[in-house]
Amino acid sequence: MIPVAEIFGPTIQGEGPHVGMKTLFVRVVGCDFNCAWCDSKFAWKADPNTKRYGTKELADELVKRCSIERCNNVVLTGGNPCLYDFEAIVIELHDHGITIDVETQGSKLPQWLLDVDLLVISPKAPSSHQPDVYESVNKHLKLLESVQGKVAIKIPVFDEEDFQFAEKYYTLVDYYRRKGVDIDLYLSVGNTNTSEDGDISRRVLNDYEKLIQRVNESDMKRVFILPQVHTLVWGNRQGV
Ligand code: SF4
Repeated sequence: MIPVAEIFGPTIQGEGPHVGMKTLFVRVVGCDFNCAWCDSKFAWKADPNTKRYGTKELADELVKRCSIERCNNVVLTGGNPCLYDFEAIVIELHDHGITIDVETQGSKLPQWLLDVDLLVISPKAPSSHQPDVYESVNKHLKLLESVQGKVAIKIPVFDEEDFQFAEKYYTLVDYYRRKGVDIDLYLSVGNTNTSEDGDISRRVLNDYEKLIQRVNESDMKRVFILPQVHTLVWGNRQGV
């Protein structure tokens, strides 16, 4: 059974290679990390209201929701969706012409990821106070080389130490790209106050400008720098 905190959308993907894409989100319950600045703490643990889906039931629900909402992309996020087996769901959604993106922090990279359309690995930088998954990602060289879709490494940057962490991943991404993997590095502006209500766009854009300047001073060449677009539109609101 897969515990689900929320299924929401259609909305836009606010980050990474598919930024701006119309999509549904499935947020699973459960994470093997507990990042200091996590904006999805409500998804760490199940509560009495958590709905648990069998594989077929969740696939059917997503096909139905995609049809009703006129949407053909689903993002699996969390928590950490890689704690669960989505293989049959990926097959079923593909059979219905629905593409699947996965967002995970990279602690586990199961085989079913080979078949998704976009794999976004988001290693957590030092400000998260969590372990670095660099060795795990590196060890999965074979997985990354044979993944069907695009791979992105996405790192939220909160401070200079995080930026230097991102520079290390730039080298890794560059290595894979030279081996022919469709992979890119995305840096996003860390949301420094996830409990702040209302319009946070001015703060986000100020931090975005600083991040662009920092990248321009660095040796990174092919890199994508983005704000979390959903925070510009909806601030810290959940479920959008
Ligand atoms: S990996 Fe993601 S969901 Fe898990 S604690 Fe960190 S930010 Fe939150």
